[in-house]
Order: sequence, then C-alpha cells, then structure tokens
Amino acid sequence: MADAILVLNAGSSSIKFSLFVASGASLGMAVRGQIEGLYTDPHFIAKGEAGTVVSEKTWGKGEKLGHGGALDYLAGFIRSELADHRLVGVGHRVVHGGLEYTRPVRVDAGVVAALEKFVPLAPLHQPHNLTPIRLLLERQPGIAQIACFDTSFHRTNPEIAQRFALPADLHDAGVRRYGFHGLSYEYIASVLPQHDARAASGKTVVLHLGNGASMCALASGKSMTSTMGFTAVDGLPMGTRTGALDPGVILYLMDQRGMDARAIEKLIYNQSGLLGVSGISSDMRTLLASGEPRAKLAVDLYVYRIRRELGSLVAALGGLDAIVFTAGIGENSPEIRERVLIDAEWLGVEIDRRANADGGPRINAVESRVAAWTIPTNEELMIARHTQRLLQA
Ligand code: ADP
Repeated sequence: MADAILVLNAGSSSIKFSLFVASGASLGMAVRGQIEGLYTDPHFIAKGEAGTVVSEKTWGKGEKLGHGGALDYLAGFIRSELADHRLVGVGHRVVHGGLEYTRPVRVDAGVVAALEKFVPLAPLHQPHNLTPIRLLLERQPGIAQIACFDTSFHRTNPEIAQRFALPADLHDAGVRRYGFHGLSYEYIASVLPQHDARAASGKTVVLHLGNGASMCALASGKSMTSTMGFTAVDGLPMGTRTGALDPGVILYLMDQRGMDARAIEKLIYNQSGLLGVSGISSDMRTLLASGEPRAKLAVDLYVYRIRRELGSLVAALGGLDAIVFTAGIGENSPEIRERVLIDAEWLGVEIDRRANADGGPRINAVESRVAAWTIPTNEELMIARHTQRLLQA
C-alpha cells in the first residue's frame, strides 16, 4: 500500500486541500480543491491532476458548514479517493511560527498552545490555520499532523534585517520583521539549481506576486531579507492590502478620523491595494483589461512599488544575478513581468520579449548580465515534502 499525504491550507472562509501520493522517493499530486464559503454558501470542488473537475457539491444558500462540517465532508471525500493508498499524515500551512519554529514541526496539544501565542501577530490567518489542527487532534488523534510555517524560511535573515528602529525591549518582546510566503520561496530555492546554477549559488530576488505579494532576497538559496515584516501587510501593495505605509498615517486616521484598530485593520488589509486605488477590482486581470484611468493608476503604482523594493533588496544583497517571478501575477502576466524588467534595466537585466510572451521559463535576452525567470511556485508540494520527511525521520 503506497503512502498518501493530505495538505491543508485553512483560511477564515475556506479550506484548500491537496492530496499527494508517494511513488518511490517522489510525491505526485492526485487531487486538489477547496471548500469555500464555509459560513455563507458552501461550495466544494475537487480537481484531478490534469485540472478536470472530479467532484463538486453545493449546499443550501445561507447554510453554515463551518470548519468542522467542512473537515467532516473532506474526510469522507479523501477516504473515497484513497483507494489503495494509506493516509500517513496531514501537513498544514500555518502562517506564523514566531522565532521558535525555524522548521516544520509535528503537532501535539502543547505545540498548538505554543502556536496560539502567535495569534496576535497574524490575527487574520493564524486562528483559522490552527482550527483544523485542533479539530483533527480531537477527532483523529492517531493521525500525524505537521505544521509548516510561512515565517521559518526567513529565520536565516541577519539580525539587522529583522530589526525595527524601536526601543530594544519591544524588539526583545517579538516586535520585529518576520517575513512571510516562506514556503513559496523555499520551493523556488529548491528548484532553482535545476534552472540556473549561478542564480542558485548567487544573489537572486524572487517576486511572489499573487493576491498577497512580497519579494525575497536570496543569497545562495537562503533568505537574507524580504518585503513583508512584522505582519503580511508590509512591503508591496497587494490585491487589497496597502503594503508599506508611513506609520504616521495610522496615527492620523485615529486622531483625525476617529478610526479604531478594527476599522484600520479593515482599511489596510481589505479595502486598499489594487482594489483601493482603482476602486474597481483587486484582480490584476480585470485592471489590465480596463480602460479606466484609475485602473491604470493602480497598476502603475504596483509596478513602481516593485521597482523601489527591487532596488532596496538588491542593495541589501550587494548585487544581483537573477530575478524570478512566481505566483498568480508573476506566473501569468507577461505584461507585468515586462514592465518590471524594463524598469530593472539599470541593474543589468535585458528582457527577451518573445520568451516572456511565451511564458519562459527563461525570459532574459542572451546578452543580459542578470538572468530572469518565471517559475511556478508549489507551496503545497513543499508542505507535502516536509510532512513526508518528518514522518520518515
Ligand atoms: P493567492 O495569493 O490567493 O494564492 P494567486 O497566486 O492565485 O493568489 O494570484 C492571484 C492574482 O493573480 C490575481 O490578482 C489574478 O488577477 C492574477 N492573475 C492570474 N492570472 C493572471 C493573468 N493571466 N494575468 C494577470 N494576472 C493574473
């Protein structure tokens, strides 16, 4: 009987899943999907390897399936999919591992309690990431669960890169730059040697441009710094998040607009970024297709902020050998990649427009001193690999 590993990524209103099966030393994705609208209009969809829908279900309008109900449904579906495979473990994406968890960990009640301490550091993600872990511990204590963190990969950042210019007691209490999207960057670092040995052992900036967006400076495949900081709202503007914001703006909003923490949270996480600037959409495809000046402004600001952050990360690295684009926008938008690379010409990168339009993976011209790549990320596979490795250890 071959082994199977289930990967879960639980959010506030959805649970995404991927089922991997082991064949020899490698892991293949068998089925993936999600249940969304957990508290509104639940909808389940599962797709096979080739992207074809293998199962779908909708519940009644207004039905509250919740995380518990969704997990029950998922458990039944996974059992029916397993056939002649044996589920050996569940890997979870957990946003925050603090300073303590520099690598994935097998969870028990003690670890869950330790991870709950990080809820104030990631209030929009951490509680939901932990919910299925807690439910499975209660309902199926026999199944091994591994937590994989978005912060761990950045624990190689030098101390100076993790520091805010705040009084030392706050730094010591954990108010520092953690960095996120670590599982994505770790995956890219793991496959980079297959593409480009010089980039893998040199200075590379990876652009993870999805709904959430950040950039990471890699030296010899290790994270040196990134654009996200204490929380995942720092750095680049995103679908609905501001990215870096003068902290004075927050004080102004409190003093002059009477906004409290929750109202500001909503503003900077859910109502800003591409959506806020355009007033149209958080979706890059919609904005690129729109003729509205505000849509153009949102895209211009997005590209400009990438240009600024790229300069900053290259300065931190002290040079640049390669740029890698990944995630929804990075993998699928030749237009954004082209604009970013043209802005980066001063760094020694020259684009191959045809290769870029064709989707790469190499998108730099032959004479370019700096390489440019588009490489699909695979956070789920990274989690499955970690889970397999920890279970075998
Ligand atoms: P998440 O961070 O939720 O995993 P994704 O990595 O899937 O998100 O990225 C979602 C973003 O990718 C959206 O802004 C979407 O518009 C954008 N995107 C997907 N395909 C394209 C495309 N062909 N052109 C431009 N943007 C795209």
